[in-house]
Amino acid sequence: MQPTLEQLSVTYKNLPDDKLTRLAVTEAASLRPEALELLKAEIKSRGLDEGITRGIDVQLNNIDDTQLHNYLSLIRNQACPICSNRSQQLNAALSGTVISIIIFTHYKKAFSIGCPACLKKANQTATLKTALLGWWGLPWGLVRTPQALIKNIRTSKSLNTNEPSHILIDFVKNNVGIIESIKNNDQSLQVMLTNVNNK
Ligand SMILES: [Zn+2]
Repeated sequence: MQPTLEQLSVTYKNLPDDKLTRLAVTEAASLRPEALELLKAEIKSRGLDEGITRGIDVQLNNIDDTQLHNYLSLIRNQACPICSNRSQQLNAALSGTVISIIIFTHYKKAFSIGCPACLKKANQTATLKTALLGWWGLPWGLVRTPQALIKNIRTSKSLNTNEPSHILIDFVKNNVGIIESIKNNDQSLQVMLTNVNNK
């Protein structure tokens, strides 16, 4: 059963600022309109940053190409969250690491945002680990290891272009609420990018 508006209002009032903000910037699109109004009212009454309300609004409509381009440029022109360099535009990459220990084969795909040099380095480390440690598990080591190596070769090639990768575009599309809410604050953007890499 859906909670009544009174119940929702109490729930929102009892949420700490960080949880209320997170709900607003990540899940606004899943809330019904009356719930959204309550949420916005609660944010306003607490005097929270107005960026949060913008973060709600941007999730309610599909973003157009211009908006997407602007968010992508904003993210790509940040300092690299790994080496702090600003000389190259940031990108995102997915690198696979396979490690086999006796019969267990562990395949981890790591998503990273950084400058091309840092992403390449991370991709090389993943490739080297996989080449040394991936093969030894039967049968999955033999299956997953070449899959990861092929993936990493593709990733490495994609980093040679200056185009934003598909996974960076997906990342931006999936996080417009968060990005919109902190777009005027480079420090918060850095924290977000660092957290993404440490997940
Ligand atoms: Zn870097």
